[in-house]
Amino acid sequence: MDMTRIRDRMVEHHVTRRGIRDPGVTEAMRTVPREKFVPPGSEEFAYEDAPLSIGEGQTISQPFIVALMLEKADLDAGDTVLEVGTGSGYASALMSRIARRVYSIERHERLALEAKERFEKLGYRNIDVRVGDGSKGWAEAAPFDAIIVSASAPEVPTALKEQLGLGGRLIIPVGRGEGQRLKRLTRTGATAFEEEDLGGVRFVPLIGEDAWTATHPMYTATAPSLPKTVASEPSSPQDTQGGGMGKIDKLPTLPEGVLDHSEFQQRFWAVQRISWIVFTLLLVTCLLGLLGRGGPFSRQTLQLPDGSVDFPIISRWNAPEDMTVTFTPSSEDRVFTIDPAFLQTFSIQGVDPPQKATFTRAGRIGYVFPADPAGPTQIVFRLQTQLPGRLRATIGMGGETRTQSTFIFP
Ligand code: SAH
Repeated sequence: MDMTRIRDRMVEHHVTRRGIRDPGVTEAMRTVPREKFVPPGSEEFAYEDAPLSIGEGQTISQPFIVALMLEKADLDAGDTVLEVGTGSGYASALMSRIARRVYSIERHERLALEAKERFEKLGYRNIDVRVGDGSKGWAEAAPFDAIIVSASAPEVPTALKEQLGLGGRLIIPVGRGEGQRLKRLTRTGATAFEEEDLGGVRFVPLIGEDAWTATHPMYTATAPSLPKTVASEPSSPQDTQGGGMGKIDKLPTLPEGVLDHSEFQQRFWAVQRISWIVFTLLLVTCLLGLLGRGGPFSRQTLQLPDGSVDFPIISRWNAPEDMTVTFTPSSEDRVFTIDPAFLQTFSIQGVDPPQKATFTRAGRIGYVFPADPAGPTQIVFRLQTQLPGRLRATIGMGGETRTQSTFIFP
């Protein structure tokens, strides 16, 4: 498969059209093979704008969010940058195509090693990966022109601010659960920082000494300004092992992005399957003529004390139909009534045998037929359907009425 074209389309759809203009960023996204950063078997989802699971309860960032972070970091060809939260390595790989040198730190050893292998295979030689707690930054490599934090902190870790060079940009999600905000801090002086809010986001928690601590079943802030125990969702299966769950444990692990990808996918497939079954059943019933005019479900017999009426309930626009009225034997004249709504549904072409008299009373039209004590009398009303749609009409025999609807296909 030609991944270059798929990548170009992803950049066009999910990145450029959503306002990312930085040519360095879009060019890097066209170059870096995102499918090499997702677990085997998930390649087909690599170019959807969604976060994907990469194991250890962690996710590869959604393309648009990475693009946004990189654009806001305002990277330059000569820059030295730090990524906290290497994960799959995708964001670091992008940065390595723009900046001079990338330092990337990840707390999960397996993820860090896998990312390193990917960089080697792809020949990206300007990235250093280290296993460790990125909430403390990477002091030996500081100062940085830009720092990107790919996990959400309770507040901006001091070490990261200190490791920014003058004019350096720190892009970091702050907050927990649904309430996270993406922030940009620009160092304007020795102790001066300019802070901007870039909008609401959803990332996995930054777990470390200067961030959240992974105490089951929720992550707990170490920052003094936050309450000791923060009721929020568990961060990941890996980070929440080990015992009883609090009352908030019903929340699933929600990685960065909007929804758990596989769960969403499964629900989507379930809905798709049901739709197919319903569609197939409808198709089969239509092919067998079960649902149309003249089919076995197209008529209904209404029982009334003075007899019965065989009535069309499914028909087609402008089609001839008939309604059979059967009166039980009686020594008195019989009366059949319809309401004006009936005449909106059907026009009456003829009555066989014809009525003795017609009258209107209380808004209803009545047909009078002669008495016949010898046996049942059958009257056929020859009809023509009128308006398409579902129409209701009320018919009556003697004093009793019944309301019946008819569906007329256009
Ligand atoms: N940028 C990544 C996605 C990262 S997801 C990509 O493009 O694929 C966030 C990552 O941050 C996870 O892998 C998580 O293990 C890591 N992480 C969380 N807390 C950390 C910390 N204190 N130091 C380093 N990495 C951390």
